[in-house]
Amino acid sequence: MRLLGTSHRQPPVKKLVQRVREGISSLFDLPAGYEVVLGNGGATAFWDAASLTLIERRSQHLVFGEFSSKFAATTTEAPFLEDPEVIQSEPGTHPLPRASSDVDAYCLTHNETSTGVAMPLQRVGSQDQLVLVDATSGAGGLPVTMSDLDGYYFSPQKCFASEGGLWLAVLSPAAIERVQRIEASDRWVPTSLSVRTAIENSRQNQTYNTPAVATLFLLAHQIEWFLEMGGLNWAVERSRSSAAIIYGWAEDRSWASPFVANPEQRSSVVATVDLIDSVPAKEVSAILRENGIVDTDSYRKLGRNQLRLGLFPAVEPEDVAQLTRSIDWVVEALSG
Ligand SMILES: *Cc1c(COP(=O)(O)O)cnc(C)c1O
Repeated sequence: MRLLGTSHRQPPVKKLVQRVREGISSLFDLPAGYEVVLGNGGATAFWDAASLTLIERRSQHLVFGEFSSKFAATTTEAPFLEDPEVIQSEPGTHPLPRASSDVDAYCLTHNETSTGVAMPLQRVGSQDQLVLVDATSGAGGLPVTMSDLDGYYFSPQKCFASEGGLWLAVLSPAAIERVQRIEASDRWVPTSLSVRTAIENSRQNQTYNTPAVATLFLLAHQIEWFLEMGGLNWAVERSRSSAAIIYGWAEDRSWASPFVANPEQRSSVVATVDLIDSVPAKEVSAILRENGIVDTDSYRKLGRNQLRLGLFPAVEPEDVAQLTRSIDWVVEALSG
């Protein structure tokens, strides 16, 4: 009653933004000088904003699925940037970054949502290069040491169990300095994509233009729930319990197997499970859907006979165990 319908420049909404910013700072244990910045448009809009305001001349991208390839495509198309250095690996694996004197930013993806591959994050390169991480499906569910990174950005509709439409970015002092420098140069930056404008507004617990208040509300509650339950470690462990159930189950079945061959690269927030040809995943997903278990479909462009399962911290591990029993039941019925 106090939030919906009020202006985002009024205290109730500003307090909500403040809770989100302070909550993210605690959850990720931010080093001194790191700031929580937010704006409208989600991670996809942040790719455009980062291309304009965080990458100076040339970036390096690790490409190992749909989302990581989209950011590489954005910087390739940007007329004011040189074509990026792209390091690619097969879907179901991840490449590693390579220190290069010819780039000013390394663009990594914490969790490639399209394939169910997660990668550990470490600083790469020198002081004057930025490490920028798309953490949309990983933030809040995978471990992270923020001092290794300069930008850790995400949308709130995955591990943070909120709605979409917003981007959040944890920025290091070096990243903030980079933004100020590029935006003071003669590169034209549209205001809605200006990270400098977003930083100025965020410092006042506002967004440049009107945000979806329900998104902020759900996000604040999820962050505070994580903090009450024990913080990031607790959330990470909860997804790990769910992942142990799913991967253990898939390895035990003659008709299923984890898609990601290397156990160390298997995501604990998004699991991909291949089925043998005689068990059509599309049919299994359709039957599950008819029975109220939705969105077990594989990523469409991957084109595999596969189930893809969200194991975000909001999901009860016991529900994941029930899901495996439900899939067993459907597969037995189909084979019978
Ligand atoms: C979902 C997702 C995105 C896109 O997020 P939007 O909020 O739809 O822009 C980007 N990157 C990754 C890794 C994602 O999982």
